[in-house]
Amino acid sequence: MTAPHGRRFDAIVVGGGLAGLAATHRLAAAGLHVALVEKRDRLGGSSAMSGGWFALSGTPVQRRAAVEDSDDVFLADMLETGGGFADPSLLRALVAHQAHAVAAIDRADAWTDELKVSAGMTIARAHLIRIRGLLASLEREAVAAGASIVLGRPAEALITEDRWVIGIRSGEEVLAADAGIVLTTGGFSRSRELLDLFVPDQAPAMPYGGVGSTGDGLRMAWMLGAGLADVGHVAGTYGQHAEATDAEHELLTANYLGAILVNALGARFTDESESYKVLGSAVLSQPGRMAFQIFDSRVRALSKPGVPLSDMERIEELGHLVGAPTLTQLGRRLGLPTGALEGTVDQYNETVAGRVADAFGRTGLVNGVGALLPVARAPFYAYPAVTAMTSTYGGLRVAPDASVARVDGSRIEGLYAAGEVVGGFHGASYMTGTALTKALVFGVVAADMIAGGTRA
Ligand SMILES: Cc1cc2nc3c(=O)[nH]c(=O)nc-3n(C[C@H](O)[C@H](O)[C@H](O)COP(=O)(O)OP(=O)(O)OC[C@H]3O[C@@H](n4cnc5c(N)ncnc54)[C@H](O)[C@@H]3O)c2cc1C
Repeated sequence: MTAPHGRRFDAIVVGGGLAGLAATHRLAAAGLHVALVEKRDRLGGSSAMSGGWFALSGTPVQRRAAVEDSDDVFLADMLETGGGFADPSLLRALVAHQAHAVAAIDRADAWTDELKVSAGMTIARAHLIRIRGLLASLEREAVAAGASIVLGRPAEALITEDRWVIGIRSGEEVLAADAGIVLTTGGFSRSRELLDLFVPDQAPAMPYGGVGSTGDGLRMAWMLGAGLADVGHVAGTYGQHAEATDAEHELLTANYLGAILVNALGARFTDESESYKVLGSAVLSQPGRMAFQIFDSRVRALSKPGVPLSDMERIEELGHLVGAPTLTQLGRRLGLPTGALEGTVDQYNETVAGRVADAFGRTGLVNGVGALLPVARAPFYAYPAVTAMTSTYGGLRVAPDASVARVDGSRIEGLYAAGEVVGGFHGASYMTGTALTKALVFGVVAADMIAGGTRA
């Protein structure tokens, strides 16, 4: 086989977020000559903006907190959350290879003790990891093992020969890979064109996620006949202020601590314990495409400074939290119809007291877990939030070994993909933390396939 002219490597990794750094480190550590090609002038992608929650089962953090989890329950929860659409073989592989994530987090010394039940979980399984420390550690390890990191270099096309992927083109330059290529280009949350194509009803969501998330890897593999998975289920995430900037992660899920959601008419409209992806879709169909998280001082006291999704102090500092001594005054400050908020809260509190069934079927704080709290103790608070397109959890069809499959199921030889560019893991909805876990785990799996593989 003749390789294209240009710089030659054993392997090329396209995209320098968590999945790309994990793959690059693993390839370099296996002794391969590897280049990581990143289109922006810095590494990190959506991974660096993320909350840092990882879904993992059976960890020391869980054991210390006396949380009894197991791989079987983790798998069952993901299958349930996926609503029958996620690929069970991928989820089994995710659970089976979790140790890759645990090992990288150990090496980076990036654990915290923060552990919680979050979207899609029946058990406290969301682990807060110091994500920037983890990314920096993987980069250091990759460079120390000899990897070349090339910034400001967008891959534009995959080069094939005899149906093998043998290199990438970037402008006039060709980079050749003798053993394989890993696409880790992230999702398409910043591509209005792809959102309009796959999920037009979600396209009005506020664009968020890494600015490099324009679906490049998906398009490049698609050009070679790659199959797609889950793209029709892509949904925005509810819980972000409309003025949030890329500089800071600002998501709040006070509803998982006891808040209710009310729309601009002061009415509830959904079961607030659902995944924030499900809530994202519900909020997109409300007036003004927004909803207030309404809570009292008991929930306010559950805030955890510095912990993404639960940090009300930071949101207050940013001037995005609205407070008032009574519900009537809060309703007025929010511009709600007179009496609407009080009526909604009264009705909800009747449900919490067990006197009437909830109109929307809410039975717990998150995913049916946790005892409901009345909205009763002054002062009262509101966080106005919208649906943001943080991540797109559909993408390329892959096998459990991270190889990219064509539409007909056959393998595209020499091409692997990991992280948000792939589909099949989430199905209809999303369990918090599975995006980062899958990026880290399958970056390593793809690297191992290339390092252990042979070329014809
Ligand atoms: C605000 C926010 C909070 C989140 N919180 C969580 C969380 O707590 N837990 C969780 O599990 N998930 C979370 N997610 C989702 C998660 O962060 C992503 O799904 C995950 O980080 C994707 O990792 P990745 O390595 O696949 O892609 P990314 O980290 O996005 O990296 C992709 C990289 O590829 C580069 N690239 C793109 N195209 C090209 C090209 N043509 N050539 C070269 N380089 C290219 C990009 O510039 C980028 O650097 C969150 C996302 C956001 C935006």
